[in-house]
Parts: sequence; structure tokens; C-alpha cells
Amino acid sequence: MLTEHEARALIVAAGRHLFSLGWLPARAGNISLALDDRWLLTTPAGICKGHLHPDDLVVVDREGRPREPLAAPASTELALHLAVYRVRPAVRACVHTHAPNVIACSVAGVSLETPVLPEVILTLGRIPTVPYAMTGTSALAAAVEPVIAYHDAAVLEHHGTVAVGTTLAEAVERTELMEHAAAVLVTAQSLGGIRPLAADHVRALLQLRRSRGGRPESEPRL
Ligand SMILES: [Zn+2]
Repeated sequence: MLTEHEARALIVAAGRHLFSLGWLPARAGNISLALDDRWLLTTPAGICKGHLHPDDLVVVDREGRPREPLAAPASTELALHLAVYRVRPAVRACVHTHAPNVIACSVAGVSLETPVLPEVILTLGRIPTVPYAMTGTSALAAAVEPVIAYHDAAVLEHHGTVAVGTTLAEAVERTELMEHAAAVLVTAQSLGGIRPLAADHVRALLQLRRSRGGRPESEPRL
């Protein structure tokens, strides 16, 4: 189990990393980490996540109530984060970004579900899209819940990414993989089109994924 001091340092570092990649522009995005079975550490609302100080982070319980009554307001997507931890008890970290290639694919109607890249099929299975709902609302949290129940990473339609992990590094890595896949699709589309991987190859990858404990519910549809 991480100490709170360590958890604060990890979120600050992840914020800097994702901001430097251009995935947390302005005040966008949010990051949370479970301190234990009761408390969550989360980024605050209205502050650029590239320039966070460890003391800026806010501790809330699983209902979103702040541990310190005078704490700054927690992330505007707190409801989304709470929904994730509610529906995935083993998850310890959640990252939401505005990764631009993922958003571009969503805006252009290019699905990230298409089985194209072996490493995505092996690790994430498929990357589904959460239907659009207004940012910062319980409607968005409700839309995310049934999707993240079976997937470790998803697109938020016309909005960004959400990824989870048993560690913050894992949630960040899954975000990186999504954005990489989206960048490849954007380039492939501009070069003439997206060719899915042949079904036989996808099946072989899925067999390997299952042997590593991958969940069948998150596999691409063939
Ligand atoms: Zn957002």
C-alpha cells in the first residue's frame, strides 16, 4: 500500500507527464488514486494538471465527501471516478485525458474497436466508446459505468479517454496505448484507409491473451 505522501507525488508526476504530451491542455483531465478502501486521492477542479503541487490534491471518500471540510473542490469529473471504483473494486487508479488523436477519431467517427494493432488486442482486447454525455455530470458517470465494468480503457465520445489500472502507472500506460492506436489510425486513414488485422491473426492473439488471464468480455467482435 502506498503512503499518502507517495501517492501525492505519483499523481503530480503523472500530471506533468500527460500535460507534457499535450493530453491535458489548459485545465482538462483528471487523475485519481485509491489510498485505501475508504479514501481516494484526486486532482482538484480548475487547476492545470501540468503544474500541480502535492498539496493541491484532494482526498475524498467513496461517496465524494471531502476528508477535510475546507478542502478545494475535487475534480469536476469526480462522479466518473467514483463510478469507476464502485463498479471495479480491484481498480486502484483512474486517468481521464483529452488525448487529441483519440478525440479526433471520435469526432471523425473512426472506431477504436476495430482490431488493428496486435499490442492493443493482446493488452486491452478492444477499446469501446462511451456514448456522449455532458462533461462533469452524473449522466457521464452513468454512461461510463457499464463500459468500464468490462474494459480497462475506453473512448469518451467527442471528449477524451478514460483508463483504469491496479496502479497509476498501469492506467497511464493504457492511456498511452490508446492514444498511440488512435494516432496510427489517423495516419492510416490519411494514407488511404484502415485495414483490420485478419480474423485468424486476431483469434491467435486472443488465444494468447486468454492464456494470460485476459477477460473474454473485453475481446473485439469478429
Ligand atoms: Zn474531460
